[in-house]
Amino acid sequence: MTFDELQALVELHCASLLDLPGEVYFGSLDALSDSNGFAVIGLNPGGSDLPSIRENLARYRQSAKRRFSGYLDVCWHEPFFSHYQTCGPCSASLAANGKVRQQRHQKTVELIANELEVDLRETLALNAIWLQTPSAAALKSFLANHHLPKMDQLFQQQFFPAIDTLLSRCATRFVLCLGNGASESAFSFFRAALGVPLDKIVSVSDDYRDGRYFAHEAEGFRRVYFGIAHPSMHSIGPAGLARIRTLWRELNPPA
Ligand SMILES: [Zn+2]
Repeated sequence: MTFDELQALVELHCASLLDLPGEVYFGSLDALSDSNGFAVIGLNPGGSDLPSIRENLARYRQSAKRRFSGYLDVCWHEPFFSHYQTCGPCSASLAANGKVRQQRHQKTVELIANELEVDLRETLALNAIWLQTPSAAALKSFLANHHLPKMDQLFQQQFFPAIDTLLSRCATRFVLCLGNGASESAFSFFRAALGVPLDKIVSVSDDYRDGRYFAHEAEGFRRVYFGIAHPSMHSIGPAGLARIRTLWRELNPPA
C-alpha cells in the first residue's frame, strides 16, 4: 500500500475526525509497501497539543522515510513529541546510538521485536484510536465532550474499517496489541469488531503477566492478534513473550 492509499482510507472512514488532534501512522513507507507481516497497535497517542489528524497526515507525507520507526526514531518526551521535535538527550542518543532515548513503552516493543528478529523499521506501527489524549481515562471524556460515540463504537465504525483494510493490503500475519484488558484495549476492540467469541481467546500463562490471543481467518488468510498487558503497566519483560515467539515462528516457517 502507498501512503496515498492509506490517506484515502483515513479520509473515507474518519472524515468527521480529521480536524481533531491526533496521529495516524508512525511506521515506515517500507512497512506499507513491503511489509514484514508484523504490526504493533496501541490504544491511542498520549500527550497533548498534537495538531489535527489532517495536519498529521500532511506532515507524514512531507517527512516520510523508507526506514523508520516511532519506537526507535521519535522522541516521545513532551512537549517535544506533540510539536514534532526531538529533545536534546534524544538527539544525542540518535547520533551516538542510532535510536532515541526511549521511554519504557518504546523499549518494551523493541525488546519483543528483537526477540522475534523483527525489524521495527519495516513494521506497521499505529494506534487503534488516532485521537490524542493524555490517558485512556481522558479519552473517554474527550469523546463525550466532542459528542462522539464511546471508544468501542467509534473504533468499530471509523478506525477498524481503515485499519482492517490496511492489515489486509499489507498481508499482516501478526498484530501485537499493546494492552489486552477486557474493555478499552486495542485487543478487545479487535476481538469485538471481528466478532470473535470470548471462548476463542487463548490465555497465556508463563512467567509473564496475562498475555492472550486469538487467530482470525478471512478469505483463507490467517492472522493472529496477540494482546500483552499495556507496556506502561508492567516491567520491561512483556507478557507472554515465549508464546509470541512460538506463534510468530508458526506463521513464518523456514523456507
Ligand atoms: Zn526525547
